[in-house]
Amino acid sequence: MHIITLIKQVPDTTDVQLDPKTGSLIREGVESIINPDDSHALEAAITLKEAKGGKVTVLSMGPPQAIDAISEAIAMGADGGILLTDRAFAGADTWATSSTLGQAIKKIGKYDLILCGRQAIDGDTAQIGPQVAGYLGVPQVTYVCEFEDVKKKSMVLKRRLENGYERVRCSLPALVTVIGELNTPRYPMVGGLIDACNAKAPIKVWNAADIGAQTSDVGLEGSLTHVIKTFAPKFQREGEILKGDTREVVRSLVGKMKEHKLV
Ligand SMILES: Cc1cc2nc3c(=O)[nH]c(=O)nc-3n(C[C@H](O)[C@H](O)[C@H](O)COP(=O)(O)OP(=O)(O)OC[C@H]3O[C@@H](n4cnc5c(N)ncnc54)[C@H](O)[C@@H]3O)c2cc1C
Repeated sequence: MHIITLIKQVPDTTDVQLDPKTGSLIREGVESIINPDDSHALEAAITLKEAKGGKVTVLSMGPPQAIDAISEAIAMGADGGILLTDRAFAGADTWATSSTLGQAIKKIGKYDLILCGRQAIDGDTAQIGPQVAGYLGVPQVTYVCEFEDVKKKSMVLKRRLENGYERVRCSLPALVTVIGELNTPRYPMVGGLIDACNAKAPIKVWNAADIGAQTSDVGLEGSLTHVIKTFAPKFQREGEILKGDTREVVRSLVGKMKEHKLV
């Protein structure tokens, strides 16, 4: 069984600060991690490989330093990884990101399952998984919290709904997005890190030309949406200090509370 796992390197914070001038994320001084949902996808991929045989390939699009996320995935038990990195990929919206990942998956060739996280903690759109499935024309199952039965050509999965669960049968190859409830990710092993360094578990680096992409189809140029403005919402509190005779102040306070339907 060949399982491709999509991982995104993200800043280790949900308290994302924006540069007020450029509107882009301030990444300096913020440590990077594998997106939390993707660690659960990786754990599921490695567990399935251990049970069924086969291999796990991780795929990530990002800046050169995203290779650290791939090395960590190999240290957890993935068999190899591919980093898609090219200046031409910069500024990609979710459409350009999905189609670039899709093109790379087509180049990888035969696979049985694509696993990814439900959502990235920085971009937060949850669009990539479904869009990659759409690009490749394979079935998708989202919000998966249990792999009940995985066979060669089909699988039964449990997925989380707002008010309960749904059991789904799906043919393979397919794409699955997972949620944290699925498992507890294992820690990276030192032996795995050595494998990554010794090229026993190879990491390939591909650019736009390597996946046969035109620069007009990727990054900012290939994006269908463009950010007009980015800003953090401002919270302003209104304060009023009542002064004077205590009885008058209390009467005035109760009046104001009634006015705002607080009493
Ligand atoms: C108009 C627009 C312009 C943008 N411009 C920029 C920009 O200039 N610079 C910039 O850094 N970002 C930019 N972004 C954000 C970028 O498009 C998203 O970060 C990216 O498409 C992934 O979307 P997401 O973070 O919402 O992932 P989600 O859809 O929430 O992620 C779901 C899952 O998909 C997989 N996944 C997501 N991204 C990747 C990836 N890169 N590699 C491998 N797997 C992945 C992971 O498994 C993840 O758990 C822009 C977005 C928009 C809409």
